[in-house]
Amino acid sequence: MGKADLHIHTTASDGTCAPGEIVELARSKSLNTIAITDHDSIDGYLEARKSAEEHSVRLIPGVEITAHYAGKEIHVLGYNFDPYKNEFIQFLKKQRMARLNRMEQILDHLRSKQGIDITIDEVKAQAKSTNVGRPHVAQIMIKKKVVASIAEAFIRYLGLPLIEKIKISYAGLEEVIEKISEAGGASSLAHPGPLYTMDEVEEYLDYGLDGIECMHPGHSFEEQKKFISLAQARDLLITGGSDFHGNGREYDPYFGIVTLSEKYVAGIDRMTRQRKKLQMDMGI
Ligand code: AMP
Ligand code: FE
Ligand code: FE
Ligand code: ZN
Repeated sequence: MGKADLHIHTTASDGTCAPGEIVELARSKSLNTIAITDHDSIDGYLEARKSAEEHSVRLIPGVEITAHYAGKEIHVLGYNFDPYKNEFIQFLKKQRMARLNRMEQILDHLRSKQGIDITIDEVKAQAKSTNVGRPHVAQIMIKKKVVASIAEAFIRYLGLPLIEKIKISYAGLEEVIEKISEAGGASSLAHPGPLYTMDEVEEYLDYGLDGIECMHPGHSFEEQKKFISLAQARDLLITGGSDFHGNGREYDPYFGIVTLSEKYVAGIDRMTRQRKKLQMDMGI
């Protein structure tokens, strides 16, 4: 069994590598299977498919969806969904609208409370798309010499205290899980280690998540073991990846290092095949 990386970002969200480039990098790191999991978008996945075929890298459908739950944002990974299902495509479009709306509020707040003037057009230009996120704002802050690094931007301005002040219109956790499932896919709780208590993880899993991201560069070895045991105890899928955002960016040193055995990918395949078959038999 070979190695997989089921958590990678591209220029279709807040990564710095183009989708085709990711496929070439994956090949150079001897990864057999990858998933491009951009925030609330599958554009990067769609764009990478041709290159994946050319380089004999298995590319499975992937996405990292932002859910709103009790004033928090929870990242939910989705795999092996039908990328052509219209309801799912429309759902992701709505999520990106919520992302834009949230960004307008972030910029209003920075302008009125911190005296930092950044426009939505600047953020879109930085993102080279309308799929904007806080890392794009952080990069503009560096250009404007407001901060020296992305990490500083998050510590001083863009972290949780800011998000808690904003009215978020992302879908709820239950709806996100449901939408992935309705598209024949499997959901997994992204990088729980650094973010949630065990009680919170159990609470989120009770909403029907299909898996847990156990391998992630933000997890200690102990955390990885703990989440694998939890997934096994609950008969859930084990997923994992590097959360690579590009060279010199988040988790850069872990690309090709933090990987997932393809035996776990086979588990995801089995589960989503059964789900799709059941949906077909039921005529949905
Ligand atoms: P957003 O999509 O606007 O919620 O931004 C979330 C993204 O910001 C995450 O996916 C990470 O790529 C990045 N991020 C979050 N926290 C930090 C941090 N403390 N330092 C650097 N990047 C961060
Ligand atoms: Fe990100
Ligand atoms: Fe995430
Ligand atoms: Zn991610």
